[in-house]
Amino acid sequence: MSEADCLFCKISSGDIPADIVLENEDVVAFRDINPQAPTHVLVIPRRHIPTINDMQDADDAIVGKLFLAARDVARQEGFSEPGYRVAMNCNGAAGQTVFHIHLHLLGGRDFGWPPG
Ligand code: AMP
Ligand code: ZN
Repeated sequence: MSEADCLFCKISSGDIPADIVLENEDVVAFRDINPQAPTHVLVIPRRHIPTINDMQDADDAIVGKLFLAARDVARQEGFSEPGYRVAMNCNGAAGQTVFHIHLHLLGGRDFGWPPG
């Protein structure tokens, strides 16, 4: 999928609406349309990176910023304690369906392990 066709690039640019909970110069966080927990937020970089496999060494800062945004949303949503789940799927075996990297931030319930 090219950048021009990418759903999450369109959410980042504002062309497609989303329920945004945090945004800054580098990242956007918005509520998942099909939530798997009481709170389910996706954290994306504004820049189009299709999968974890496409991350470059020089992307270390942006990858770190995804986690810092997840930390801030968890705090905002009030579940830093007792805790939450952060996950990123890579390619088909893991069930990735949107090829613009995104951290799933899930909170508001207990989570099992292994995740399945
Ligand atoms: P993944 O399967 O890891 O690629 O996750 C993609 C996620 O994007 C799924 O949890 C979908 O529910 C979510 N999703 C798809 N379209 C939208 C949308 N327009 N707004 C918010 N979340 C979406
Ligand atoms: Zn994209």
